[in-house]
Amino acid sequence: MKIQVIGSGSMWNQYNSACYLIDDKIMVDFPNGACKYLYRANILPSNIEYILFTHFHGDHYFDIPFYILNKSKSENKKTTIFCFEEGKSKIDQIGKLAFPNSYEDAKNSLDLTFEHKNQFKIENYNIEKILVDHGRMKPAYGYIFNFNNTYIGFTGDTALCDNVEIMAQKCSYLFCDCMFIEGNNKHMGIDNLKDLSKKHPNCKFIVSHLENQTREKLKEQNIKNIIIPDDGYILEI
Ligand SMILES: [Zn+2]
Ligand SMILES: [Zn+2]
Repeated sequence: MKIQVIGSGSMWNQYNSACYLIDDKIMVDFPNGACKYLYRANILPSNIEYILFTHFHGDHYFDIPFYILNKSKSENKKTTIFCFEEGKSKIDQIGKLAFPNSYEDAKNSLDLTFEHKNQFKIENYNIEKILVDHGRMKPAYGYIFNFNNTYIGFTGDTALCDNVEIMAQKCSYLFCDCMFIEGNNKHMGIDNLKDLSKKHPNCKFIVSHLENQTREKLKEQNIKNIIIPDDGYILEI
């Protein structure tokens, strides 16, 4: 399993918005600028066949119209999008806004499926969708991949909540929100990550959605099981 951190930043800095690419064809979130981020990493967006959305804030899905248009012009038209039920209409809305004359045709030319299940399989991975707590943005989800009985989690945007604890307990690697120095009711912070990393020493926490100040402070702390990735960081398991 290869996991590439395409974006490790928050919206307000030079780092790409939080998203991940697994085995060069599964994306977790598709934020503002994602197609450009992928091109800069020498990855063709059209090679991506699966997109798992955590929630529908712009910094997690606003590049989807560009992906759909690009996909319609490529050979590989296979696309499966995992999200909650309303996601399809949200994607259609921004698709039509971005390309009023060509979005419908582009979308209809794809081999496109939407999946809303809480448990599903992508190739060799058994995946669980798990509810997290992102304040007023409801629902918001994380995902746990099971790969040969190794669990790898993605929290998406979330405050510290019971299901994040469950993910940290279960996972060997947890890609997680750590936007702020102090966590609040929408995002986790260094305080939450310090507690989690102490409580779950067997889990490696790969933080993301970082503000610059958070990145600097966390680097100074040098905590053994917290990894602070740059954009492009690759984990091979
Ligand atoms: Zn969000
Ligand atoms: Zn976000």
